[in-house]
Amino acid sequence: MRIEMLGAHNTETDRVRLPCLLVDDVIALDAGGLTASLPLERQRQIKAVLLTHHHFDHCKDLIMLGANSLPSSTVDIYGLRDTLETVYLYLLDGKLYRDYTCWPSAENPRMKLKPVSPFQPFLLQNLEVLPLPVSHSVPSAGYFIKAEGGKSFFYTGDTGPGLEGCWERIAPDLLVIEVTHLNRAQKDMERLRHMTPGMLAQELMEFRKARDYLPRVIVGHLPVAYEDEMREEIAAVGKQIEMEIEVGYEGLTIEL
Ligand SMILES: [Zn+2]
Ligand SMILES: [Zn+2]
Repeated sequence: MRIEMLGAHNTETDRVRLPCLLVDDVIALDAGGLTASLPLERQRQIKAVLLTHHHFDHCKDLIMLGANSLPSSTVDIYGLRDTLETVYLYLLDGKLYRDYTCWPSAENPRMKLKPVSPFQPFLLQNLEVLPLPVSHSVPSAGYFIKAEGGKSFFYTGDTGPGLEGCWERIAPDLLVIEVTHLNRAQKDMERLRHMTPGMLAQELMEFRKARDYLPRVIVGHLPVAYEDEMREEIAAVGKQIEMEIEVGYEGLTIEL
């Protein structure tokens, strides 16, 4: 399984992109920095997008993905029912731009919306996908993805603390998790349901308690304005849990 981190930040500038992972060239996890990161031919290989939640930084590139798709192809957009309803209502319903769920025709659209249910695994391009609820400010699901050979990773999307419920169910080889702000913003992050490095340390200690090991950990959703301080705080967490935590970046590729 090959995972490419196309977007590792919570904003977009000339050098960073919004959240997006690409798995085996054909499955995107979130669509924040999707089309801006890939040449047309690679965009046209994408078969499915798994949305963690409806926030704009995670669904921004869906319209351009529809615009760039081959006329005869369909991309399946997966997400919680609430996520898909909101994304359709505000982004895809044909008012803001074209409605690709019924274009060029209702029988053969460029996009199909496919609701997922928490805790209900399904098969997608030979990978097993398990949506697990996480605690963000709107209904959100992380995705546990397992290859045929048994290697697996968990992408949380945006989440606040309280992931113990996930650790009871999964034992990934790799964890891709968010940190959105510095430790001094902990109160705000608790309220907005995001993570600081200190909160991440707590979650990883819970993981180790539940599973007796720690997976490789890569952080994303990084704040570009505080990058140096963020690296220092993440390194301090690594010291605390005695394992290096990797800071994600655009173009990072992982072979599992
Ligand atoms: Zn969010
Ligand atoms: Zn976000």
